[in-house]
Amino acid sequence: MEYVKNLKCTNCGKTYEAIPDKYLCDECGDKGILDVQYKYEKIKKEWSKEELDKNPEQSIWRYLPLIPIEKNSKRPKLRIGHTPLYHSKAMGEKLGLNNLVIKDDGLNPTGSLKDRASAIAAVKAREANAYTVACSSTGNAASSLAGNIAAMEEDMNAIIFVPERAPAGKVAQLLIYGAEVVSVQDSYEAAYYLSDDAIKKWGWYNRNAAINPYLVEGKKTAVLEMAEQLNWKMPDWVVFSVGDGCTIAGAYKGLYDLKQIGFTDRIPKLLGVQAEGCAPITKAFRTGNDLEVTDENTIADSIAVGSPRNFNKALNAVKNSDGEMVNVSDDSILKMMKSLGSTTGIFGEPAGVTGLAGIKKAVNKGIISRDESVAVVITGNGLKDTSNARKAAGDLIEIEADIDKLEQIFGDKGVI
Ligand SMILES: *Cc1c(COP(=O)(O)O)cnc(C)c1O
Ligand SMILES: [Zn+2]
Repeated sequence: MEYVKNLKCTNCGKTYEAIPDKYLCDECGDKGILDVQYKYEKIKKEWSKEELDKNPEQSIWRYLPLIPIEKNSKRPKLRIGHTPLYHSKAMGEKLGLNNLVIKDDGLNPTGSLKDRASAIAAVKAREANAYTVACSSTGNAASSLAGNIAAMEEDMNAIIFVPERAPAGKVAQLLIYGAEVVSVQDSYEAAYYLSDDAIKKWGWYNRNAAINPYLVEGKKTAVLEMAEQLNWKMPDWVVFSVGDGCTIAGAYKGLYDLKQIGFTDRIPKLLGVQAEGCAPITKAFRTGNDLEVTDENTIADSIAVGSPRNFNKALNAVKNSDGEMVNVSDDSILKMMKSLGSTTGIFGEPAGVTGLAGIKKAVNKGIISRDESVAVVITGNGLKDTSNARKAAGDLIEIEADIDKLEQIFGDKGVI
């Protein structure tokens, strides 16, 4: 990896050689989350926006100098990333904003932003000469790992630990992609610890994003793309929903990288949004105290993480960007699913639209003002969780096949 300097402990600063299966700092244990360091000067010299313009690759791999994989490593045969960015005047107006852009990451191959990290996991696993990759997940990390492993077209296995509440659509995906699925009849936290024990016991490659330093480097490609799509003119705010905290940490990393190599001139403020029923990171942000483990009480299953492992990276990301954290209710999340869908044609899962619901709240609280430009990422596709979607969707017309009755009902409803 010609552009990677080393791995640096975010707790004590000790550095390590960037080998593919190095996860945590030897000195700091669980707290010793490592961060990939790049040779920014070298990247600056050897890479440019003009060079990027000429690159025909339409996926995350177009940003290879900022991705910690070997140039010639085998990659999954899926189009990861390159998701669309829409200027939405109508949605902006609804939220009280003059300038809103929406990036639909639900259009990744397995339907969520997690593909950006799972693609890296699949590549790093083979670099580490491993054939079995495991993770615990509320659903999307798992289904994306399973899909990306299948797309490696090698004799690889994904072993997945999900909590019992994982939505049916995500579990169906896992099985279709051929993963071995362990449904832990307990919380996400319990599923996490069981996966951790199993990974240590059998020596599998670890795709737990909070532990594996390479995965946030995949997640950051969402903002690399966003910046390029905005012609390197960064918005005032970039908004993400927050569960474990790796996504928003990755976003900060990407924004930081771009500034270091001179592609952009500033880092936008990050707005992190959690669900009221599970908001340990917002609480730590507000109080400045240590993180307290909370219940996982929200329909936004992908961000229902009561004991987030990467909260320090997430807190630093929001603070260093001079950003903010807010919480939103399940009710406002459901309403936002409908509002987004009916206004823009984008269908997000509950955690996928939580960022948008947070924008509404932040505008109402005066954190974001009308004239500030805002970019939000819809992180997951609504088709993954249709039972929650139906709660938000409203009623349909149920009748016999009779045109007179239809005319009657349409007349009453004012459709005709
Ligand atoms: C994983 C996920 C998030 C949040 O990412 P974290 O790294 O856990 O903070 C948000 N939305 C969706 C749809 C996700 O799958
Ligand atoms: Zn350390």
